[in-house]
Amino acid sequence: MSEISLPNSPLAAQEILSALKRDAAGLVCAVVQDAETRDVLMVGWMNEEALQNTLREGRVTFFSRSRQQLWRKGDTSGHVQLAHRIRLDCDGDALLIEVTQTGAACHTGTRSCFAERDLPLTENAS
Ligand SMILES: [Zn+2]
Repeated sequence: MSEISLPNSPLAAQEILSALKRDAAGLVCAVVQDAETRDVLMVGWMNEEALQNTLREGRVTFFSRSRQQLWRKGDTSGHVQLAHRIRLDCDGDALLIEVTQTGAACHTGTRSCFAERDLPLTENAS
């Protein structure tokens, strides 16, 4: 993984942009992890501007695919995410963001988006 740490980014802005492999809509997937508990909290999408804002402010900003606009986490809900570390994955199409989460990460009110919907995995799976 290449590391984009805050606040002293070892990758320059231009290097970050050239390393990012955005999808056809210009987005990369962002996995958000609790920096302390290591729980996976949620998954969102970022365009270039959302990532740049996040790197600059330390407040996690996504791009909302449904509303087609930037969405800074916590602005309406108060459930702010402060970024501590941002890493780019091996092929540049996903980000891992370690955060301090205020309140619930999920809009349903649970701390994690992955809290309540276990799927039945076959007993033969190991
Ligand atoms: Zn959710």
